[in-house]
Amino acid sequence: MTCCFYAAHPPAKPVTLTFHPAPLTLSTTKREAAAGVALSYSDNNKCNCSQGVPVSPPHTLYLLFVISIMFFSFLTSALFTKTARAEKIGSRVRIGVLTLYKPQHIIITFKRYGKPVIPVINGEPLRDSPVGPDGTIEVAADSAGYLRVLGRDSGNDIFSKSQVHNLRFAPSSITNAPFDFEITIPGKVIRKYYGSLEIKFRKNGTILPVITKNLEDYIAMVVASEIKGFKEKEVIKAQAIVSRSYITAHGARHRKEDFDFCDTTHCQLFRGHSVWEETGRAQTAKIKSLIRETKGKVIYRNGKPVVTYYTAACSGYTATPDIIWGGSVDHNLVQVRDPFHKSGTKYFPWIRKIKRRNVINAAGWKLGVTLSRDARIYVSSRSELGDYTQEVTVEDKGKVYTIQGDKFRRAVSRSFGWNLILSNSYDIIREDDYIIFKGRGFGHGIGFCQYGAREMAKLGKSYTEIIQYYFPSSQIVDRY
Ligand SMILES: [Zn+2]
Ligand SMILES: [Zn+2]
Repeated sequence: MTCCFYAAHPPAKPVTLTFHPAPLTLSTTKREAAAGVALSYSDNNKCNCSQGVPVSPPHTLYLLFVISIMFFSFLTSALFTKTARAEKIGSRVRIGVLTLYKPQHIIITFKRYGKPVIPVINGEPLRDSPVGPDGTIEVAADSAGYLRVLGRDSGNDIFSKSQVHNLRFAPSSITNAPFDFEITIPGKVIRKYYGSLEIKFRKNGTILPVITKNLEDYIAMVVASEIKGFKEKEVIKAQAIVSRSYITAHGARHRKEDFDFCDTTHCQLFRGHSVWEETGRAQTAKIKSLIRETKGKVIYRNGKPVVTYYTAACSGYTATPDIIWGGSVDHNLVQVRDPFHKSGTKYFPWIRKIKRRNVINAAGWKLGVTLSRDARIYVSSRSELGDYTQEVTVEDKGKVYTIQGDKFRRAVSRSFGWNLILSNSYDIIREDDYIIFKGRGFGHGIGFCQYGAREMAKLGKSYTEIIQYYFPSSQIVDRY
């Protein structure tokens, strides 16, 4: 479901790579100073046009030259913009994974049915050191801004490389073909993936694995993560179209960081092949075949793909981005009443309890002030439809502060976990030394409501009916 979670950030510390039973420590090498090229302009090159100096014939030629260059670059940039747009939903996507864990040390295990995988380090394939089946590579982030690689090749020999700025892996025969592998962050997580793999060094000193996958396979895995446990076929198909539309409308949100999507709810939840193991064989086969039935289908409204936000459960009315986060209303979404959510169904309502002083501390932290034990905290503004909390007021020692409803929820959740204020439709009730949070729904409440959609599917509604309910006046378009 679309709950948010934050992992503790590991402290920055040097990592020693060691293989067992033959330990080996890589030496940390300092980054050599890059050869810099200084550019300087002499005063003679200054343009005098603005000072009214008549333009002489050589200047005219120069101007013509400049204009033609500008025209050419305009054409080129138009061409590139078009290409960039087309790339938004290419048939392959690049997913940056495990970012929440901020890893500084990872272990990759390859399983390619007996075929070795070749590490390509700084552009050079290590042909003499392919990593055999069940071979292992360790990668650590270097304090000097490079990756360090330690591997055991097919001949069982250990190799090591430092000052690595570019690391990817290729199966021996076909470059960029997908393969099976596992990434371990020691003491934290083990995930299985299928795709091709690059490892990047991030500016914050952590390691970023980037997996390239087929788009439709990625959607199937996102859907499996998102609607875990849902059996109804039509809600699975609806979620597939919603997830594909979200990707299409948002495009590659992380293009500046050199990948398309992250694996958290910021983009869409993606847990790699591990999700199929958790889903079970029968349900996996079912999801994959249902997603094939929706191949290429995307939701459009007013001629544009809809940014199909989705939420585990709304409050009885869906929300829109401007209600929850403020800002522009240019999102192509409308609020709809959700009668499929009734009292007594999941998260309708939910109630949580916490010590009052904890809530006061979280609010004080958010406001950047120290609040007294007598501070009053209450919901001061709600949406007209759906009771979404838009503003929380804090009164203390004669002063009045306000916090946007979603920001208050995040501040409390970051301090005390996301299992406290489950949705953006909540109330704050004082009870002696405690605060009772009471609300309806799960998640931000915007757009497609997964639990409501499931109820619709149970009532025999088709995926088209479900989608048109949550996204009124929309069309489902075949993009490919
Ligand atoms: Zn993201
Ligand atoms: Zn709902």
